[in-house]
Amino acid sequence: MPSPMSLPLRTGEKDAGHAPVAPFLRFSTLWVQITGTWCNLECTHCINASGPAEPWLKPIKAEVARDAIREAEELGVKEIYFTGGEPFLHGDILPLLGFALRAAPTTVLTNGTLIDASVADELAALASAAPYSLEVRVSVDDTDPERNDRVRGAGIFDKAMSAVLLLHQRGLLPIVTATEIARRDDADGRGMYERFRDFLVSRGIEKPRVKIMPVFALGRLARAGGPVLSEEDLVGFDRATLQCSESRVVADGGVYACPILAGLAGARLSDRGLEASFRDAPLYHSSCVTCYQTGMTCTNG
Ligand code: SF4
Repeated sequence: MPSPMSLPLRTGEKDAGHAPVAPFLRFSTLWVQITGTWCNLECTHCINASGPAEPWLKPIKAEVARDAIREAEELGVKEIYFTGGEPFLHGDILPLLGFALRAAPTTVLTNGTLIDASVADELAALASAAPYSLEVRVSVDDTDPERNDRVRGAGIFDKAMSAVLLLHQRGLLPIVTATEIARRDDADGRGMYERFRDFLVSRGIEKPRVKIMPVFALGRLARAGGPVLSEEDLVGFDRATLQCSESRVVADGGVYACPILAGLAGARLSDRGLEASFRDAPLYHSSCVTCYQTGMTCTNG
């Protein structure tokens, strides 16, 4: 396994103790980094450099996830998200989704490649039996298969779109999630959102749902010495708009401030459960600049 220090993910780590902070305001969102950085794909822009090799951030056991969900429910969680890596590589993902759905609305983020008709049937059954809603986010980065596969891998566009259609056929209204890695505006001025919306409608999805995410300079796109935030930058800025003021991530090694920085020592807020992590989050990483500039959130909103 590569040493975390050898990964290009730790830009700014040494400054975490002197960074400005996001105050903890409320607990709304639990993220479960269920497979750590274990994934069957190796996308060029992956924010945590996930892949099929030995993961630098290990998957967590089902019991750790269940304990976190139980504690989150006691603490009034409003939404639960499963991410990785690729969550459907985890042998317990379906029962864990069922468990989470008894506590709060639940979303799973996936590359879609492991969702066949039988998994889609099981997801539909979970959704119809649950007291809360199940959302499935499927990553597709371009409506053009060749451009998509350039960043996500050969043949991945067709597999991901197959998952989108299988879920749609079962009434699950998947959210197609694209990063701006392949951003381009059409000659007629249509941007990414419009292009995805029209493409999904053309595939028979009458009510398309699309989320566009910025690209972060970490993971496989990390740059050494990127900019970081100062107190001066944040004068007049509402830090409550940052997701780290109300989200927490359970991953191997403890509880972290946000899904973007999960697994990084500077973002670890607790190794004793969720409630102990309810404190200020250091805005120490160059990715915090992207949040500050774009107002992005990893949630479905
Ligand atoms: S990357 Fe964004 S969400 Fe994460 S700690 Fe920095 S500002 Fe907060």
